[in-house]
Amino acid sequence: MGRAGRNHHVDYDASILGSNPMKLIDVTKAFQTDEQCLAYLETMRWPKGVRCPICGAKEVSKITRKTETKNKRGQLYQCLEPTCKQQFSATSGTIFHDSHLPLQKWFMAIALMIDAKKGMSALQLKRHLGCNYRTAWYLAHRIREAMDDPEGLKLTGTVEIDETYVGGKQRGHKSKLKNKDVVLGLRQRGGPLRLVHVEDNKGGTLYEAIATRMDKGVEKIMTDDAGAYNFRITQFRNAKHSKIRHSRKEYVKGEVHTNTVENAFSLFKRAVIGSYHQLSIKHLQRYLDEFSFRFNRREDQDIFEQTLSKMAGIGAMPYRKLVEETAFTKFVRPS
Ligand SMILES: [Zn+2]
Repeated sequence: MGRAGRNHHVDYDASILGSNPMKLIDVTKAFQTDEQCLAYLETMRWPKGVRCPICGAKEVSKITRKTETKNKRGQLYQCLEPTCKQQFSATSGTIFHDSHLPLQKWFMAIALMIDAKKGMSALQLKRHLGCNYRTAWYLAHRIREAMDDPEGLKLTGTVEIDETYVGGKQRGHKSKLKNKDVVLGLRQRGGPLRLVHVEDNKGGTLYEAIATRMDKGVEKIMTDDAGAYNFRITQFRNAKHSKIRHSRKEYVKGEVHTNTVENAFSLFKRAVIGSYHQLSIKHLQRYLDEFSFRFNRREDQDIFEQTLSKMAGIGAMPYRKLVEETAFTKFVRPS
């Protein structure tokens, strides 16, 4: 029995993938069939050659089967380890598994979403892909699932921190923000942005969210002079905490300001208002992740590849889990 090598027939046009950055049109050109998409996913998932996802064996053979239903793959691998014998494909156990949608549509949806600086609503996606709303909604959320930065990513250097409010109606003073959701923003100058949906704007809540996202070696922290930031950052001994006195209409004092994180907030808000009209608060963290994922990679040429390879490494997410009230946010305030 032979060992199945890497990609017997890589028949997508690999030269297109080198174009920078890859646009929707390139994705549409490069991936015209399900097989081309699958071959590409294979190289993403198994860059060193196909392995059985169950037992890890390298001894596998390629098989072709008749397909009765369109969501079953014709091209499969069979694990040759006698105690395993698992049949699998590059989509097995991934987010693409058990989808009725052709992989081309997935690829197009990913290209559309990474291209849309202001975000892409399910309604827009539905129109572009010619699928129904529920499919588009599910697709968008599953792509968003891949668009989160790793938990381990800690900010360092100079970090600006501020909070903003989403949803509800804002009337008057900041103390009347009961029906608004709080988003904490941390932006490393010249580095990544993190946006976090937090339960409230109390000092303890903000401190905890901040402390878990900063590197011990962080040098400078910039906030405004709101009471909630009146903490001593005991875990970060070497960090200097400077405050810009917004309460006294002071916005820049030398290097002390929170303007770059505020710019990110206003971009996010324009995107939310412009594209989503209404945004379900229970999914807020996902929209925040989607936004910062794109924002942090705005200079990257390979954002399509990065997104796809993350998706190829993510487990399947059943619809059931996706719609669970508490799947993303531990606190959902009554509306
Ligand atoms: Zn196996």
